[in-house]
Amino acid sequence: MNRIIREIAEALPQPKGPFSDAEALELLMAYRKDPSDIPCPLCGPSQIEVLAFIEPEIDPNGFASVTDPDGEYAAALYCHSCGRAVGILAGAIRDSNDA
Ligand SMILES: [Zn+2]
Repeated sequence: MNRIIREIAEALPQPKGPFSDAEALELLMAYRKDPSDIPCPLCGPSQIEVLAFIEPEIDPNGFASVTDPDGEYAAALYCHSCGRAVGILAGAIRDSNDA
């Protein structure tokens, strides 16, 4: 999972470097709690924008396809204050076979 998050993050513009794994986890928890109110671990609330919803799987060329926020997907988050972006696996966790 961390490898996938890193691949998504590397596919996005990173003016000031990536979020750490711990920060990405904080963002994921905040997203799951309230997608409209995601505080940046560094900069605080009202800085994070959801740029796009992307496929959780990155293709071998490193491109992430834009998708709908439905089922399994990742959210590309961008902080306007520290200028960092990250992809978090925001969709349903496949922890049971109830499909
Ligand atoms: Zn920030």
